Amino acid sequence: MFDTLSDKLDAALKNVKGEGRINDLNIAETMREVRRALLDADVNYQVAKDFTNKVKAHVTDEKVLQAVNPGQQFVKHVYDELVYLLGDVHVDLNQAKRPPTVILVAGLQGAGKTTFVGKLAHFLKAKGRSPMVAAADVYRPAAVDQLETLAGQVGVPVFAIRGADGVPVKDAVAVAEQAVAEARRMGRDTIIIDTAGRLHVDEAMMDEVVAIKKATEPDEILFVVDAMTGQDAVNTAKAFNDRLDIDGVVLTKLDGDTRGGAALSIRSVVEKPIKFAGTGEKLDALTEFYPDRMAQRILG
Ligand code: GDP
Repeated sequence: MFDTLSDKLDAALKNVKGEGRINDLNIAETMREVRRALLDADVNYQVAKDFTNKVKAHVTDEKVLQAVNPGQQFVKHVYDELVYLLGDVHVDLNQAKRPPTVILVAGLQGAGKTTFVGKLAHFLKAKGRSPMVAAADVYRPAAVDQLETLAGQVGVPVFAIRGADGVPVKDAVAVAEQAVAEARRMGRDTIIIDTAGRLHVDEAMMDEVVAIKKATEPDEILFVVDAMTGQDAVNTAKAFNDRLDIDGVVLTKLDGDTRGGAALSIRSVVEKPIKFAGTGEKLDALTEFYPDRMAQRILG
């Protein structure tokens, strides 16, 4: 996870780590390298620029320059700024005052939505909650099958509507709406709704998710995005947030060879917290996102 970014930041900070004295020259050079490390990791240009400017303002402070170990303080300021960039504090899922809590999951096709719905059900069940999942990704019959398999593995009920021929009924809004009613009837405390994605942001897809939002009034709208898509992840997040006013972001595939830039940019561009990170294909490969832990990981 974030190996490239970690390595490059480590190399950039080597300049100051061992230095007894920090001066304008090595500050400038280190800041240049930190910025390059961020850009190489696919961090948004403006985000990288703001980041280094802020760190620079801190480290040129007299107190840092005169400190016994200015290098350590330098690294500490980079760490603090990373934590801030990643969202500062962990934000939990919203919960309904009166159950069931409705969680709407949206994102592009292949982002890992269906997998995440299974993982989230598993995560909540392990916490003693009683989730149910709904298959409102009605265009790909395989998506409904996939969710049924995952729900079976987790041991939670799944709501889907199939016609007499066994094919999913192509009315995502009806599925979502009825799923919420069914969860309430069954006394489930959470209903997680999987929705259809497309390969690219497209109006019909957005209109459908917006219609589902309107019909189900979710307590939590989670946008799922593949961290490996780099800058595109940021643009897609922005497009979904503009239409849906999301509550949180789920970054998937952080186990892959991802450069990490998405994680570092999404939060500041979209101004919504990252709530979970997907770190593999298995049901338990999900971690709650804590900015401080992630920053520690990145800085090794
Ligand atoms: P959807 O189209 O958004 O519902 O995406 P899927 O849930 O079907 O996932 C697409 C592919 O990504 C599948 O092969 C998943 O196994 C895989 N996948 C999902 N999340 C992760 C993850 O966190 N790490 C890895 N390595 N693969 C993932």
